[in-house]
Amino acid sequence: MIHPPDEPTQLGAGGDNAIAWAIGVFADEWTLLILRYAITDGVTRFQQWQDLLPISSAVLASRLRRGCEVGVLEQVAYEDKPLRQEYRLTRRGMSLWPMMASICGWEGAWAHGQAEPVPVMVHQGCGRAFEPLMACATCGEIVEPREVTGHFGPSGSWPRSAPNTTMRRRSSGSSALGPGFFPHTRVLVGNRWSAAMMGAAYLGAHRFSEFQRRLGAPATVIADRLRRFQAIDVLRAEGDGRADRSEYRLTDKGRAFFPVVMTAIEWGQRWFRAPEGPAVVFQHRGSEHPFSVLLRCSECRGALAGREIAVLPGAVVQPRRGAVPS
Ligand SMILES: [Zn+2]
Ligand SMILES: [Zn+2]
Repeated sequence: MIHPPDEPTQLGAGGDNAIAWAIGVFADEWTLLILRYAITDGVTRFQQWQDLLPISSAVLASRLRRGCEVGVLEQVAYEDKPLRQEYRLTRRGMSLWPMMASICGWEGAWAHGQAEPVPVMVHQGCGRAFEPLMACATCGEIVEPREVTGHFGPSGSWPRSAPNTTMRRRSSGSSALGPGFFPHTRVLVGNRWSAAMMGAAYLGAHRFSEFQRRLGAPATVIADRLRRFQAIDVLRAEGDGRADRSEYRLTDKGRAFFPVVMTAIEWGQRWFRAPEGPAVVFQHRGSEHPFSVLLRCSECRGALAGREIAVLPGAVVQPRRGAVPS
């Protein structure tokens, strides 16, 4: 399939929907980090990524190739003799900035204790360090995650949204990476099953059997992800401690990740269009209008644009919230 970088990909009827495609593009630890440096630091060259990430040439090459295939990167010659190429973000790739800003904001606010370096974002509109706040693009008001309701649209269903068999390849993981590389985000969306699990949690799955039925994932995968999500205090088990009888509820930290999920889904629906219509439809609870994300600056409350965000890389900040796991 050809993915034109500047216009949406038209998907076939009845196949993988926008959510499955979005998960297939970014739910990979290395891809998240490669795109992070492209978006926040303007990295375009093979050697720059290699200097920043403990990644092998083969893995980096495969991820860059995949980025080009799905239309988020394009290979451009910057020198003729000898021929040298770099990888630039396309419009499709650049439009991942709301997700990346939401990830930076969430890591800064909720990553635990050890004074991990998290990129500090500065809003050039007001000149201050900020975190993005999620607002409703229709009415402009800042909203809490619980004020947004979502349900499947015409191309939405669990089988069409979950990672499919061709996506089930094992990624060569970057789990040995130290702090500073979005450690908690990688647990939540750094691979395809994790990302699908988070989506299921937001759409109301609470029990082991519900996750299993909706995702069609092996029980060992579900058990592993539930354990990891609890270890970073994103889900909390309520019940007698037996996995099959417990209910898993999102914690405050887990709910605060919602803007990342929301911006990821919106990105998927913008760039991967099923002929039947959207995969998920969101509403601003209590009003009659549809919900889509507008990010606002926490300091001046102005609407954010990607080009107005400057990133101070690797600054060490104390977590603003949730420093002590409860
Ligand atoms: Zn609204
Ligand atoms: Zn501002």
